[in-house]
Amino acid sequence: MNTCVSPHQHAKFPLTGLVPQELAEFFVSIGEPQYRALQLFKRLYTSQQLSFETITEFPIALRQRLADLAHLYTLTLTKLQQSYDGTIKFLFHLHDARSIETVLIPSEILGNNGTPKRRTLCVSTQVGCSLNCKFCATASLKMKRNLSAGEIIEQFLLAQQHVREPITNLVFMGMGEPMLNYDNVMRAVEILTHPATKLLGSRRITLSTAGIIDGIYRMADERRTIKLALSLHATTDDVRTMLMPINKKYNLRELGNAVEYYYRKTGIPVTYEYILLDGINDRDDDARRLQRLTRRVPSKVNLIPFHPIDFTNPQGIAAQLRPTPPQRFYAFHSRLRELGVTVMVRSSSGKDIHAACGQLALSNLSSGIAAY
Ligand code: SAH
Repeated sequence: MNTCVSPHQHAKFPLTGLVPQELAEFFVSIGEPQYRALQLFKRLYTSQQLSFETITEFPIALRQRLADLAHLYTLTLTKLQQSYDGTIKFLFHLHDARSIETVLIPSEILGNNGTPKRRTLCVSTQVGCSLNCKFCATASLKMKRNLSAGEIIEQFLLAQQHVREPITNLVFMGMGEPMLNYDNVMRAVEILTHPATKLLGSRRITLSTAGIIDGIYRMADERRTIKLALSLHATTDDVRTMLMPINKKYNLRELGNAVEYYYRKTGIPVTYEYILLDGINDRDDDARRLQRLTRRVPSKVNLIPFHPIDFTNPQGIAAQLRPTPPQRFYAFHSRLRELGVTVMVRSSSGKDIHAACGQLALSNLSSGIAAY
């Protein structure tokens, strides 16, 4: 139960992010019948640009009362940028004047109607991040706070208002570490996949983690059916610790054990993410170790070109990272294929507007909604 379900404690009470049971408690607490909860729940997640006035199932007096007591949305879109490749980056302001970014990526493959087959939304789960991965721009923001479930879902609802076709996939790969905001992330998943909203199927949602093992065990024990991706990025503990300080706490062996446990409990193959960094993790030995690390359970490897983060003014090792040159990138790719690894190359959509993986750092905060 959300501890703040009391409309009297807050100037305005946020309604997005509550499960039907909590909405029922809210309505009871303001002297209204419980069945209003499911009516509102459905409208919240299935109507575009909902306002209290348009909830015509409710008597006018109730609509006015709700408008006085509660908020439907708390995020404000303050900037929208579109890349030449169709990727859209949204800048949202939060109720406490902090900001987050969300990215909508159309797939390159077109469906029968000539529009992209998939539209994937990359959502943020925290304002900033505490993990300090050396290759990631979000690290420059430090950790500010967790997002609420409502703030996570609102990214989806508000982004959907900007595209005609439905968003088909969602990845927790924006700002932050989703496993360190586990409860709110899972609550958002429950609402997005709820039979009354049918916004997304659970297998169209992917949670990417830097390797917070407690979260992996928890997902396994709770038999979560969303997909799991792991930011691996190195094949030895030394290199991984240099790139990702979290590896000191949870090393490669423990990570491998957690992934195996997860697979045994859920039967869902995992995805390993691997950024190729020039001279750091892109040698033949790495390819062989990567094969050994990833063959423990059915899995695939996503090779990711390193997206520059110079605009964050990186220091130390972070300033020395360079992308593996294309020829070696594809040689590494072929070597993994030869070794029997299922391997894909992740596209770098949105690089021109700092919207590609690992580039979310509120790099251009001035507002303005570009026409597109
Ligand atoms: N904290 C989570 C989710 C956010 S990062 C995690 O670590 O998985 C989302 C993805 O972007 C991860 O695979 C991450 O490793 C990758 N990424 C981060 N910085 C990057 C960069 N500069 N270039 C390419 N990919 C990057």
